[in-house]
Amino acid sequence: MEQQATFRGRFAPTPSGKMHIGNALTALLGWLQMRSMNGQYILRIEDIDVQRSRQELANEIMRDLEWLGLDWDEGPGVGGAYGPYHQAARHALYEREIAKLKESNMLYPCYCSRADITAAASAPHGIASEGFRYPGTCRELTREEAALKELHKKPSLRMKVPHRGISFVDGIAGVQRYRLSDGGDFVVRRADDIISYQLAVVVDDALMGITHVLRGADLLDSTPRQLLLYEALSYQPPQFAHTPLMVDAEGRRLAKRTRGLSLSFLRGQGITPERLTGWLAWTAGLLDHPEAVTPAELIPVFDLSKVSSFPIKITDHVKNRLFEP
Ligand code: GLU
Repeated sequence: MEQQATFRGRFAPTPSGKMHIGNALTALLGWLQMRSMNGQYILRIEDIDVQRSRQELANEIMRDLEWLGLDWDEGPGVGGAYGPYHQAARHALYEREIAKLKESNMLYPCYCSRADITAAASAPHGIASEGFRYPGTCRELTREEAALKELHKKPSLRMKVPHRGISFVDGIAGVQRYRLSDGGDFVVRRADDIISYQLAVVVDDALMGITHVLRGADLLDSTPRQLLLYEALSYQPPQFAHTPLMVDAEGRRLAKRTRGLSLSFLRGQGITPERLTGWLAWTAGLLDHPEAVTPAELIPVFDLSKVSSFPIKITDHVKNRLFEP
């Protein structure tokens, strides 16, 4: 890989829904982080799960970013030396890295169905980004047992996760300590050949030379699994920063509930990009008042240490400040 002298960040949306205010905040903070460090901002479309992803939604996300005034130095429509910038076109790269993991004996085939796993797990362990913790049923299969199962079912591939701790310093959430095995042996390739988010995101960030990953706090508990993959594939991990989630007055995640706060809805309500930008910066703690500003005007006030690690409560009062004349 070519030598990297510069900082590189990215926005990596999954085009399975419209861009909402939470995604917009992540995109804005990631852009500000790179622009304030003279770094490069990369757009990558995470359409690895082809059943959930839609090209029209990817196009709409790009229009939303342009409307907000967030440009990207590499990515769809711009090109760059680290493409392709759509995960759907990067399959061969993921398979190449999976082959490396296989060679170092880090993977095993798993024949369990989702129902088997649900039944075997005595209690859900609340691993937010992956559902249930896999109890390791197939890890001990002998070669013969696996061959027999292979006759009836195509396996998924799981990572052998060691029983040890891992820690890292998050740029927003601070020091994080995890036990790797708490996440269980996670899938790197599903039985239907779809590459898992965990594997794809690490391969992409590593091969694209990403030095700073800034993304939503819903992915904080994915980071230990990703650090393990960086280690197993001998790549240098980036610095991580997880932006607070937006929640409603009851603390429920906004993204899942409030379809209404998509950028296209706000645009239709006559909200200008400057007003939205200033309001987002205010909710994140970068401005004292939600005044209208352009992203470029925020570069001098950007400071990651001002961003709170607590969820951002979008109460009616906070929401109304966006619509106030
Ligand atoms: N594609 C993920 C999402 O849209 C983000 C992944 C990441 O930033 O690591 O939530």
